[in-house]
Amino acid sequence: MLACVVHGAHDLRIDTIPAPEPGPGLVAIDVAYGGVCGSDMHYVNHGGIGDFPLQEPMVLGHEVSGTVAALGDGAQAPAVGTPVTVYPASPCGVCPECLDGRANVCRDTRYLGSSMRFPHTQGGFAQRIVVRPDQVVALPDGLDLRRGALAEPLSVALHAVRRAGDVRGKRVLVTGAGPIGALVVAVLAHEGAAQIVVSDLVDGALAISRAVGATATVRADDPADPNWPDEVDIAIDASGSPHGVAAGAARLVRGGRLVLLGILPPGQTPFPGNLVVTRELEVVGAFRFHDEIHDAVRLLADGLDVDAVITGVVPLHEASRAFEMAADRASSSKVLLDLRAGSSS
Ligand SMILES: [Zn+2]
Ligand SMILES: [Zn+2]
Repeated sequence: MLACVVHGAHDLRIDTIPAPEPGPGLVAIDVAYGGVCGSDMHYVNHGGIGDFPLQEPMVLGHEVSGTVAALGDGAQAPAVGTPVTVYPASPCGVCPECLDGRANVCRDTRYLGSSMRFPHTQGGFAQRIVVRPDQVVALPDGLDLRRGALAEPLSVALHAVRRAGDVRGKRVLVTGAGPIGALVVAVLAHEGAAQIVVSDLVDGALAISRAVGATATVRADDPADPNWPDEVDIAIDASGSPHGVAAGAARLVRGGRLVLLGILPPGQTPFPGNLVVTRELEVVGAFRFHDEIHDAVRLLADGLDVDAVITGVVPLHEASRAFEMAADRASSSKVLLDLRAGSSS
């Protein structure tokens, strides 16, 4: 079978590797679509992400949909042929965080296509993958495989908004209008935020955020833009940039909440700490997600309008082109790889 493998910075290949067989209790999935994520692009452009450099070749991808292909002995999972999406984490289930309902920060987890551990956890941009039954989430009627590939990033957005607290009627600034920022906007709109202002450096990304529910957008590099809010109750950084974090903190009401969602550059980050002190801001992190994937597939099946976020679908053998498209933020948001056997442009 074919898989999209990163061998190092600027070394992305389509490799032929053996198709895995499901061991006892496990489930094989024929992957249909895989969303190219900012983290996948980090591996290709920089040979690693955050503080975790690549140490061996790794199949990329953690935002996948597909169909159940085979069940290992005794596997309790949806029947062969069921359309599914994949919860990319396999938390340990026994650490204090798992027992406390925070499996997204499990201290002994694995995540598809991640170099945080060694050996690395191979990812989902392969024509067949094998996962645990608790990673398999059946797609409800009305949710096709293409949109099903958005369940993972939408879950990330749901978790971040949950970390923000009750958003109904609130004024919110979202810094960063990439795919995750846009999905955060869609969730905020769905949950009844009164005002959703979005900042970014790229007009195309701002246009997508308006299409999914932003009430106003501003250029991050134009401090004189009249659409900047004077004050917000919640700021969510989806830019992963110290500037985005600072822009949010600077506009928070006293006692407001700052959610750090975007992964920041490696090492120490400049941070407006005195604003946190003197305005008694609450700063929380948002990392991955856990149960939110069930809400995500439900929202997508119910018609949450996020189609503007998918800006391209590219066959697996043109993966390099998919990565170039995804990197061109002026014209792209979420780009999907089509991994179905026999798919072509
Ligand atoms: Zn992702
Ligand atoms: Zn755990």
